[in-house]
Amino acid sequence: MLIDATTLDSGATIGGDVCIIGAGAAGITLGIELAALGFDVVILESGGHDEDAATQDLAAGSSIGQPATTLDSPVRLDQMRLRYLGGTTNHWAGFCRPLSPVDFEVRDHLAVSGWPFGPDELAPYMRRAAEWVRITDDDFSLDRWEVKLGMQAPAIRSDRLEPFVYQLTFPTKFGRVYRPEIDATPNLRVYLNANTVNMATADGRQVSHLDVRTLGGVSLRAEATAYVLAAGGIENPRLLLASTDNDPAGLGNANDLVGRYFTEHLQVYAGFGLLEADPADVAGLNGAEVTIETGRHAGETHGAKFALGLTDHHVRDAETTGLELQLLQSAFPEGAPLQESGATMSDVGELLGRTGTTPGTAVYLQGLAEQELDPESRVILGSATDALGMRRVELDWQYSAADRRRALDGYRIVAEEFGASGLGRVQLVPGGIHADAIDNLVPGEFVSIYSSSPDEIDENNFPVGMGFHHMCTTRMAASPSDGVVDPDCRMHEVENLWVAGSSVFATGGTATPTYTLVALAARLADHLTAVLR
Ligand SMILES: Cc1cc2nc3c(=O)[nH]c(=O)nc-3n(C[C@H](O)[C@H](O)[C@H](O)COP(=O)(O)OP(=O)(O)OC[C@H]3O[C@@H](n4cnc5c(N)ncnc54)[C@H](O)[C@@H]3O)c2cc1C
Repeated sequence: MLIDATTLDSGATIGGDVCIIGAGAAGITLGIELAALGFDVVILESGGHDEDAATQDLAAGSSIGQPATTLDSPVRLDQMRLRYLGGTTNHWAGFCRPLSPVDFEVRDHLAVSGWPFGPDELAPYMRRAAEWVRITDDDFSLDRWEVKLGMQAPAIRSDRLEPFVYQLTFPTKFGRVYRPEIDATPNLRVYLNANTVNMATADGRQVSHLDVRTLGGVSLRAEATAYVLAAGGIENPRLLLASTDNDPAGLGNANDLVGRYFTEHLQVYAGFGLLEADPADVAGLNGAEVTIETGRHAGETHGAKFALGLTDHHVRDAETTGLELQLLQSAFPEGAPLQESGATMSDVGELLGRTGTTPGTAVYLQGLAEQELDPESRVILGSATDALGMRRVELDWQYSAADRRRALDGYRIVAEEFGASGLGRVQLVPGGIHADAIDNLVPGEFVSIYSSSPDEIDENNFPVGMGFHHMCTTRMAASPSDGVVDPDCRMHEVENLWVAGSSVFATGGTATPTYTLVALAARLADHLTAVLR
């Protein structure tokens, strides 16, 4: 059931068994699962049915660290997440794949790493999450998808680089897709235009109630047995830091970890490749549509395609971080940075032509690289306030020269493996295509990396974009000295408060996060069921 909070009397108390803050992918999954089990569930959602400028402005803030950009232009904090029913799934791209086993492991070469459990713990929930995000299922094995798509994965099989499968939901906007179910469920009450501005507590150990406000001035009080923060990877720490009833440092922040370890996927245009294979053999890079055969979305379609990633074996052996790469065939993506004025698409064609063979299939290489967790990369509160009087976010995103170097090492491996497999040749141009690349091309050379001349690359300055995946800001860890939530996603310091979303990720890996965060929300539904019963 959907209720517009602006129609309620100021001063009213609302509540249920569980009160969830935020109706995005995590909140909607958790809310519907708990309601189906008979619990009385309330979701407080900041926005309404559609985007609204005044509500969206509540997400504004400033970026004070590494620039938050797409690959070529700055992105404001209020552009990178959405505040209305369905949250940021209203503009996600729908790429789904699970984390790799290595992402869960402690890697001694990194300052901070490791989840408190392995992938087996999440396996049953990945099955449930597949249904929530509307993909075929949780089986991502290569053989199976080669048959299903009738297409080959790129013929690269080495210790260092391997193909993998992406399933793409034709973006499941959680608000639109699940609205009929919300409408039809009386014990799930989703309050729209209901902003949580404070998690009230007397002692810092228990949340007593939530202070909720609409932009029009209605004040409400929400009470529940269990509270779940599911407001996204930036707003989750913001609300904890802003809830200062018991401690000026915020709720659950005695160890000063809330908001730290803000982690992203470093997005890099790596260059381009010329595939010498028969175009039909690399059609799997573009993928195709498939139909979901079973479950509540049977008959609906989604996409699937192949991409490439460093193997877990290599990440362990070379003591590095993960990297994945999409090969965007033929078409160059909108906004692909042609960094220096004058480089045009036909220049690129010429560049490819001059590499020595008749151009076969041109691919643009676009990668996501894992970054090492850094406590100085963080969400903090600034002095500016929003229309509800809440302090706005200052995002201090940091990544290191070592992160860049590891990404570059990964791209070099991609280039070498392309050549070794006979698949084609790669020109690495980290950050985008340079106008002078044409003049500096070394014909017939298999790999050359340059910024302005073939031997010269400024490893510290190639452009890096943000994946908009906002992870680890309320990191999960077995010990309160290492993280904000415990392995059940409960706040270490607050007994009746849990957190859902990618803020609980213990490391970021390279996989896009939503499929995994939905699995964690399904797991939290089971955990809360046990707690509440
Ligand atoms: C351009 C773009 C492309 C993306 N593509 C992909 C992709 O291909 N694959 C992938 O896995 N991920 C992708 N993502 C990331 C994906 O959108 C997020 O991982 C996902 O939406 C997070 O779900 P969530 O429920 O944790 O948060 P959100 O979806 O952000 O939902 C949070 C909800 O909380 C509400 N809220 C916030 N503060 C309050 C408050 N104080 N009171 C009440 N409610 C509040 C918000 O209004 C919102 O509805 C993309 C993101 C962007 C920006």
